[in-house]
Amino acid sequence: MTDCLFCKIIAGEIPCRKVYESEELLAFHDINPVAPVHFMIIPKEHIARLDEAHARHELLLGRMLLLAPLLAKEQGLTDGFRTVINTGPGGGQEVYHLHMHVFGGASLHRL
Ligand code: AMP
Ligand code: ZN
Repeated sequence: MTDCLFCKIIAGEIPCRKVYESEELLAFHDINPVAPVHFMIIPKEHIARLDEAHARHELLLGRMLLLAPLLAKEQGLTDGFRTVINTGPGGGQEVYHLHMHVFGGASLHRL
């Protein structure tokens, strides 16, 4: 996926402020934060959007979810946080590489 922005970040072709990296996941700060702490967790495998994930991604998706509270705490979000996955135009998705936003540190509006 050569012209995918997040694949380029994974490949190190575009810099990021890294929060966490494993063999299968990467987390980095959002370039345009909506809260005092705002990072995202992405799989290294290129999955364009959540509705293109398959049963074989079950473990990967579970790991993304379980990583969120660990990293949120490390980033100082001791009081809780919000996770968001935008999917498709109807969900306001802008970057078509699956990512889970994790943010907090200020009072957030109700959804
Ligand atoms: P969305 O696809 O709407 O869920 O959001 C894409 C997010 O990626 C936005 O919050 C952007 O601020 C963020 N973003 C875009 N380019 C970069 C980048 N180079 N590094 C970090 N975050 C980025
Ligand atoms: Zn990608």
